[in-house]
Amino acid sequence: MAEKLAKLGITSLESLVLHLPARYENRGVVIPVASLRNGDRAVIEGTITQANIQFGKRRSLVCTLKDDSGTVSLRFFYFSSAQQKQLQNKPKLRCFGEVSLGKQGLSIIHPEYQLVSPNKALAQQSQLTAIYPSTEGIQQVRWRNYIQQALKLLSKSPPRQTLLNNHEYPVQLQCKKSLYESLSFLHNPPLDSDIRQLNNGAHLYQRRLCFEELIAFRLSYQRLKAQSQEIAAPLIGSDNPLQRKLEKNLGFHLTNAQQRVIAEVKSDLAKPSAMLRLIQGDVGSGKTVVAAITALQCISQQFQVALMAPTEILAEQHFQTLSHWFKPLGVNVQLMVSALSAPDKRSTNEAVAHGKCSLLIGTHAIIQDSVTFHNIGLVIIDEQHRFGVEQRKALVDKRNDGLLVHQLVMTATPIPRTLAMTFYADLDYSVIDELPAGRKPINTIVLNNDKRDSVIQRINAACQEGRQVYWVCTLVEDSELLSAQAAETTYQLLKEQLLNVSLGIVHGRMKTKEKQAIMSAFKAGEILVLVATTVIEVGVDVPNASLMVIENAERLGLAQLHQLRGRVGRGTIESHCVLMYQTPLSNNGRRRLEVMRSSNDGFYIAEEDLRIRGPGEVLGTRQSGAVSMRLADLERDADLLEQVVSTSNEISKQADRSDALIQRWCGDRTNYSKI
Ligand code: ADP
Ligand code: MG
Repeated sequence: MAEKLAKLGITSLESLVLHLPARYENRGVVIPVASLRNGDRAVIEGTITQANIQFGKRRSLVCTLKDDSGTVSLRFFYFSSAQQKQLQNKPKLRCFGEVSLGKQGLSIIHPEYQLVSPNKALAQQSQLTAIYPSTEGIQQVRWRNYIQQALKLLSKSPPRQTLLNNHEYPVQLQCKKSLYESLSFLHNPPLDSDIRQLNNGAHLYQRRLCFEELIAFRLSYQRLKAQSQEIAAPLIGSDNPLQRKLEKNLGFHLTNAQQRVIAEVKSDLAKPSAMLRLIQGDVGSGKTVVAAITALQCISQQFQVALMAPTEILAEQHFQTLSHWFKPLGVNVQLMVSALSAPDKRSTNEAVAHGKCSLLIGTHAIIQDSVTFHNIGLVIIDEQHRFGVEQRKALVDKRNDGLLVHQLVMTATPIPRTLAMTFYADLDYSVIDELPAGRKPINTIVLNNDKRDSVIQRINAACQEGRQVYWVCTLVEDSELLSAQAAETTYQLLKEQLLNVSLGIVHGRMKTKEKQAIMSAFKAGEILVLVATTVIEVGVDVPNASLMVIENAERLGLAQLHQLRGRVGRGTIESHCVLMYQTPLSNNGRRRLEVMRSSNDGFYIAEEDLRIRGPGEVLGTRQSGAVSMRLADLERDADLLEQVVSTSNEISKQADRSDALIQRWCGDRTNYSKI
């Protein structure tokens, strides 16, 4: 059992009592069986009238429980023979469980139950029942039992007071209760407590704990950063003759924002510890050239650079752009994607291993796979918010001398300041807050899908003027096949209606070679209308494309719409975006389209996105589990973040308090030795 608990990070009495209920149930009232409805979680009491083994798809023990009002079945898939015998004795039971509706009517699967005996009254419920987050092999009864024991033991020697002083909480969270008192309340709330508030994590005692946990997380990220700064990194001198040559060939001047960020990066690289910097710049702000100059800085000093992109299309495009820029400088650039033939892969691998290739571009696979670098100094990651400790470790391993490789992460997703300061406290943060001169705002219109024909006419007119068009088909479901089919149908339809226009199609089911051929033809202006799925979402750069149509735009989130729309408006021609929608629109769908219509500002759109979706979704932490907190929830507790930043800044000056907080909340989960 100790092992099982340890897996959940529970290794002491204190960590046990900090294992707080995931929710609460009111089991104080017994419900008549006849009033049960599908989905109810309820307490019932009655006599077992039958208990038989059924052999269906799975063997189960099915009992009928009867009270004055009716009957319901109880079903057990796991049961002991003692349990079977007991239930076949037709006892009187009090049960609790979730009611579900099956082919044979209402039943409760694996109810919790107690025997009701005539000469021993059951204890009256005097409090809400706590339901604990659990893992296989630890039942709720166990949790309750252990935690009550722990509370009892701790009552004799209560754990250290809350690690924060009362005045360090936000005003609305200040109160005089001790940590022990609030924990015992949260494990045993009286029956008349506000169950809804507790289930929303909005009770004062819960909020105080969330606040403490958020502080602990921020401190732990800051510590992570301090520790990675103790590892030496490749020394990159400040001389960058290649940069001057590149700038001469670019055909444009760097914006002030680009120059500022490049200077920040340079000063990072000159330090003895690894750079770990996140660059945020709106779609089209020119992050690629910043990456290129950073790469040249390392290449000038004989270090190799890896550039990772989230999709093959984007990797391919970076390869095109950067080869074009770097070839005249005599810098060898190579592409590594899974579509390469085995001999090509081998020769690329060899060039990388012998240091002949200075810049290797590819998808994530390039740091995970068997690629060995001769002397890697920098990894650039495009269109990604963050990457985990595991990946960082993979980076150290890319050098056999244990030096930590410099890291530059680029993203178009703006992160609100307070969130960045809490969850990116281990990264430095630069913003390219200026678009290249001459960009015209994209004019966005929102149209019902039934206006399709008039949109097609507009496309025809635009193509006659030599303009290029994206027509984006959105995901029907999360299925590449279905969306490829949808794109194929639209492609046929457009082909019939746009007789003198050259069309192309690109989607995720095509071979890499085919995709590449289509993208280059579009870039070269040989294709005027490109029908695509959302595979073109990030990074694709064809400045002459000035019209974008997005079908069923209501299906996409704001971040995705903004990214997609960012494929146009990259040149000096006035660009348009047509968002088509299918009725009926949901409220959120309508709001999103309105935000897109009214603004081109990535920061504004991101703030709205945050408002509509919440930070867990926006940062992608929900799915990736990058932030695993016990109680706190970025979305629910967003209002605390500002004060989390200021309070933790104060506490970080006191090593012992920081230690205690990190130990309490992140203790065994953050394994620092891993970096
Ligand atoms: P993103 O930040 O979205 O990755 P890119 O790096 O793809 O943007 O740049 C978008 C386009 O703007 C590219 O065609 C690029 O060559 C061009 N560009 C970048 N910087 C400048 C600049 N300072 N002046 C003019 N055009 C620029
Ligand atoms: Mg980009």
